[in-house]
Amino acid sequence: MMCQEVEVELVGYHFGVLSGEVRDEVEAHLSGCARCVRELIAVKRAIETASEAKRPSARARARLREAVAQELGVSRAWAWWERPLAVALAASIVLVSGQAMRLLTSLPGAAPHALTDRR
Ligand SMILES: [Zn+2]
Repeated sequence: MMCQEVEVELVGYHFGVLSGEVRDEVEAHLSGCARCVRELIAVKRAIETASEAKRPSARARARLREAVAQELGVSRAWAWWERPLAVALAASIVLVSGQAMRLLTSLPGAAPHALTDRR
């Protein structure tokens, strides 16, 4: 195999999808060709860092958030006290509705008891 032929197979070699015969030829060539080994390393690095490179930076994410907020007309960020207040409000709604549900279902004649008492 010539270097150019090997280079074409390096991505397939990295992913282990070459046929046994081609793989053997690539490996035989790699054992005697430093240039193609370097090429293989470059291919592996490019593949393995591709997923990291695709992730946007923190600044890019901040810009995106800003752009989305502007698009939605939510121009200002939450004040420091608004978020805990909203969380507390949501939590109290959950608690109150849970208590209300327990009260309603514990009344005599309420659905779960009415069903179990008849048995
Ligand atoms: Zn070579």
